[in-house]
Amino acid sequence: LTARVTTQLRRKRYIDRLRSTFEASLEMAVTDQLTGLYNRRYLASHLSAMFDRAFWTGRQLALMILDIDYFKRINDTHGHDIGDKVIQEIAERIKNSVRGIDLACRYGGEEFLVAMPDTDKTFANIVAERLRNEIAQHKISINGGRDELSVTVSIGLSSTEEGPKDDSAQKLIKRADEALYAAKTGGRNRVINSAAA
Ligand code: GH3
Ligand code: MG
Ligand code: MG
Repeated sequence: LTARVTTQLRRKRYIDRLRSTFEASLEMAVTDQLTGLYNRRYLASHLSAMFDRAFWTGRQLALMILDIDYFKRINDTHGHDIGDKVIQEIAERIKNSVRGIDLACRYGGEEFLVAMPDTDKTFANIVAERLRNEIAQHKISINGGRDELSVTVSIGLSSTEEGPKDDSAQKLIKRADEALYAAKTGGRNRVINSAAA
């Protein structure tokens, strides 16, 4: 009996280990290592489904693309590690400002995308403004709290509300991107709606 139990226990531990390795690799495949947000691959496989759902339910889907202002300067002045820390801190603030049903991902180096289902333009604008303000108002602590950095972000918004008849997830991204560009050329540290871009 002892021998049998020992064998069964060993087997159980082996299976548990396999399962947690499997779960860890699944998680690594869909999340960004630096920030813990979803990665671009995950976004690519889920955004069309979110878009289709908005289409069939007749509800609005809003998208925001956020880019850190003058980030190259932060890297050049303080080094790449501090740059990474800033990216992590911005990611934390994004996580704290979105809901469970929203999909937040690291879209590029210092760019983030948040897809917000069941969200109209007015509410998306409130969320984006609140986040922009939260980032601009609270400096980021670096070097173990000895220094702090002022960082701002520019945000571009788009919505299925203003979409053309043949709208798509790709077009939604493109409109948010154009709005982000308008926010940059308009002076940064601001939110621009795609309709106004
Ligand atoms: P803008 O206000 O127009 O957005 O200016 P910017 O300097 O933020 O824009 P730009 O796209 O020129 O610079 C982005 C920089 O981000 C360039 C790249 O070296 C840096 N970067 C990209 N990924 C990472 C990363 O993972 N860590 C760090 N530390 N830097 C990164
Ligand atoms: Mg950028
Ligand atoms: Mg930038």
